[in-house]
Amino acid sequence: MNKTYNLWTSGCQMNISDSQRVGSELEKLGYRYIDSHREADVVVINTCVVRQSAEDRATGFIWWLKPLKKDNPHKIFALMGCLVGVKGNDQLKKTFPHIDVLMPPSNPMPLINYILNKEEAWLASKSIEKRYALQDGDLILPLHEQYNLIATHVPIVYGCSYMCSYCVIPYRRGIERSRPVDEIVFEVRSLVKQGVKEVTLLGQIVDRYGYDISDEVRLADLLQKVHDIDGLERIRFLTSHPNYMTDAILHAVAYLPKVCQHIEIPIQSGDDEILKQMRRNYTADDYRRLIHRIREYLPNSNIATDVIVGFPGETVEQFQRTIDVLESLKMDVCHVAMYSPRPNTVSAKTMPDDVPAKEKKRRLDVVNQLQQEIVAEINKGYEGQTVEVLVEEKHNGKWKGRTRTNKLVFFEDEHDFKGQLVKVRIEWAGPWSMRGLVCPSEL
Ligand code: SF4
Repeated sequence: MNKTYNLWTSGCQMNISDSQRVGSELEKLGYRYIDSHREADVVVINTCVVRQSAEDRATGFIWWLKPLKKDNPHKIFALMGCLVGVKGNDQLKKTFPHIDVLMPPSNPMPLINYILNKEEAWLASKSIEKRYALQDGDLILPLHEQYNLIATHVPIVYGCSYMCSYCVIPYRRGIERSRPVDEIVFEVRSLVKQGVKEVTLLGQIVDRYGYDISDEVRLADLLQKVHDIDGLERIRFLTSHPNYMTDAILHAVAYLPKVCQHIEIPIQSGDDEILKQMRRNYTADDYRRLIHRIREYLPNSNIATDVIVGFPGETVEQFQRTIDVLESLKMDVCHVAMYSPRPNTVSAKTMPDDVPAKEKKRRLDVVNQLQQEIVAEINKGYEGQTVEVLVEEKHNGKWKGRTRTNKLVFFEDEHDFKGQLVKVRIEWAGPWSMRGLVCPSEL
């Protein structure tokens, strides 16, 4: 009988990708995914601490697991992600004695080595160690539908060295490390062999890909190499930083047909003093000019941004400057978060968290309301247009996929379109999704 594993993941796409990697390594050992924390032989808890609420959710779940260990002492609990951090954390072992393994972000090997030692007899009985060695290096997609086999993520830069004053990521994921080009190309080829049609290349500042390797290797070069992989249909990349979006990257997006015109580039605030306190190293006008430059290269692109509201000292006037930027630039997406002081960060150590929680929530609601109106208007422009949709799965009886600009589209049809690029005529477009009909030429 196969042993089973379960994954609990919170946080960003990097964490989702890390969990997929853990699943991949466990599948190589003969484990199979099961949708139950209670039943699984191994439970991986992949955590996010970017905000206090995310950290509280993770620790709440870890405590919830504790009685399961009493019921089954052989169960293995592995804690991963930003709660652990790159340096490990002895205090965590004391606080949560029911956790067996601590894994830094993006590194499944502590768990794999633990299992190889602990389950030696079981693995030998199934000749699995040999199989594991044979497949080492290949990314095997977990055999579970939660891992979308059509579109997936591939980390290309780990960590971040930028040190924005509010951000805990450099402390938890370590300094910036780019993966070698060959390793990434090998991995994407392996994914394509397993049916993947779209990859999103991930980095905290993805445009800085290669800066720590040599002067010769940059994101634009990598995009070209990944673009050459037969069978791959689409490429995306995120997250960009305003100071590193070069003309070479924009040129690659404009001229490589598989690279989607979809840019995620956070502004964080529209006020120059707040941007300075955040240590972002650009002004609101620099950002406006950048968005105009992106739109010159990519007139039909989807551009997403992030905003933090209630940063220490943010006045109503300063918040209004963020609103002014959003109103004038009309972005396709705005991810908004309330400021949350994180341990060790410069802002937490030196700036009082002085915007009341109620006021932060009000500002968050204002941004969300404005953004909903903006995106509703943008999406209305899709009605009557025919778009290319990469179909990912069936959801509640409808096919679900995304346009090249990352808009979510649903359509009904009895044919099997999973994994196909389909032309869909948009009949209705709301702020969060669209509905359409397959063009008759596709049937
Ligand atoms: S660029 Fe700034 S916000 Fe983004 S991960 Fe690095 S330190 Fe954090």
